Amino acid sequence: MPFVTEWSTTDQRNLVVFAPDVLKVFKHYRQRFFWQPEGGGILLGRRRGKHLEVMLATEPSHKDRRSAFSFVREADGHADIAEQAWRQGDKQIDYLGEWHTHPQRVPTPSAIDRLEWGKLVLQRSTLTPILVVVVGTKAIHAELIDGVQDKMLSPIGLSE
Ligand SMILES: [Zn+2]
Repeated sequence: MPFVTEWSTTDQRNLVVFAPDVLKVFKHYRQRFFWQPEGGGILLGRRRGKHLEVMLATEPSHKDRRSAFSFVREADGHADIAEQAWRQGDKQIDYLGEWHTHPQRVPTPSAIDRLEWGKLVLQRSTLTPILVVVVGTKAIHAELIDGVQDKMLSPIGLSE
């Protein structure tokens, strides 16, 4: 019985589907104890019109510097995984966005998160939105951002 993993933005115009494996990665790396390091990676999948299908979340690599309060992603390891997935997926797998964990039950993006996300949007050559996810211990905060009109996804709870 597949687990329901679809969420829509609060204006109901965009649908985001997370594959069960993606949620497994989020749950595995969530920071249940304050001393656990932050983790994160990139989100890969498919865009179908306004809808996103998140098929893969890369896991923190040994190259990433993890600490309890910050997460600095080493682009190389994740980019390799992205390229591999893209080749194996008959070039239909696209970069969708980023995820990282916070030691909060219901996570709130920090000012630094917003700054970093703003940079990601500016780096893109297209106006397609990127999906940014912050994983807390009990819930996920997700937004679609395009630098013009950011959209929040309805709250997503994480089961035990
Ligand atoms: Zn953060």
